[in-house]
Amino acid sequence: MTLVSRDPILLTPGPLTTSLATKTAMLRDWGSWDAAFNAVTAGVRRKALDVVHGEGTHVVVPMQGSGTFSVEAAVNTLVPRDGHVLVLVNGAYGLRMAKLAQMMGRKATTFVTAEDAPTTPADVDRLLAGDASITHVGLIHCETSTGILNPLKGIADVVARHGRRLIVDAMSSYGALPIDAREVAFDAVIAASGKCIEGPPGMGFVIARRSALEASAGNCSSLALDLHDQWVYMEKTTQWRYTPPTHVVVAFDAALDQFLDEGGQPARHARYARNCRALIDGMAALGFRPFLDPAIQAPIIVTFHAPADPKYEFKAFYAAVRERGFILYPGKLTQVETFRVGCIGAIGPEEMQQAVHAIADALADLGIAEIAPRAPVARVA
Ligand SMILES: *Cc1c(COP(=O)(O)O)cnc(C)c1O
Repeated sequence: MTLVSRDPILLTPGPLTTSLATKTAMLRDWGSWDAAFNAVTAGVRRKALDVVHGEGTHVVVPMQGSGTFSVEAAVNTLVPRDGHVLVLVNGAYGLRMAKLAQMMGRKATTFVTAEDAPTTPADVDRLLAGDASITHVGLIHCETSTGILNPLKGIADVVARHGRRLIVDAMSSYGALPIDAREVAFDAVIAASGKCIEGPPGMGFVIARRSALEASAGNCSSLALDLHDQWVYMEKTTQWRYTPPTHVVVAFDAALDQFLDEGGQPARHARYARNCRALIDGMAALGFRPFLDPAIQAPIIVTFHAPADPKYEFKAFYAAVRERGFILYPGKLTQVETFRVGCIGAIGPEEMQQAVHAIADALADLGIAEIAPRAPVARVA
């Protein structure tokens, strides 16, 4: 992989570094009523459905806005007003789903595990057996606040066995980790343009079970985020209900084509796994330790313990690494000081190695010598 421009490389999990082909796809203007644009929308919907093998059972409904807009649209549309959502939480995005469900007037309860502990199917089994009022389970597939992977298939099986419905925030996993609608029962998988498909940010989409969406008319308390209405209108007219982010849709379509050319989800996963390996190995040689156990680490984003050196301060470290061409991501944990490095985007292991060199150089420049945590780092219980 070669550098496509002199812009800094984004090691952030969306927005991320896009390819030149994706960027140049944005250099045209499109009419939202025009058949040529509506054909692009139809192509995006079909290709996005194919990624999870949802033909026949599910439909893709795109939604304007960042990923959270689509999570809110899915919850507010698919959960009846008197429904009860159990949200499985081990980070900030789980908390966000619970908060928005509550704000939309739904009953929402949370099951919170530590940020380094996946929710288990046994947990979900016990919780559902103990509360018949729970209608929906909300799961974050890869919790981007740490990079932890939750067991989607095992949890989906338990939810289905109890006859409840599953809503999956797969924002940072869709396209990179396998999700197969033929084997995993879900009412909604939610993702966005600017993550592992490597498009620009600006639209999300919900892969909804057709029967659940059909039954959801009138549930939504929001006009703009009514997924049922967006779907019905799009099916009838081929158009978006309100102004679409035209350039984003066209660039996302170009990114989907490149994703397919690369070999689809298995190839995307393989490249990100190589990126993640190159990053963790390089950082280990500098003395850095990842926060998560390798067994539960998704190859999407890696959380590292901050250097033990008292001279370390994230802002100065960030600025020094940025000067060298790489944009890092702050940590999101309350208990321990960390920072994060994304493995996703139109980049390969070479860029990850260059990022490690930039980090080493920045540390030397800042006089930070003590990297490894002083005391053994206790896992948060
Ligand atoms: C990126 C992301 C979102 C959406 O965040 P936005 O800032 O609204 O795009 C939601 N959930 C997860 C797990 C994410 O990684």
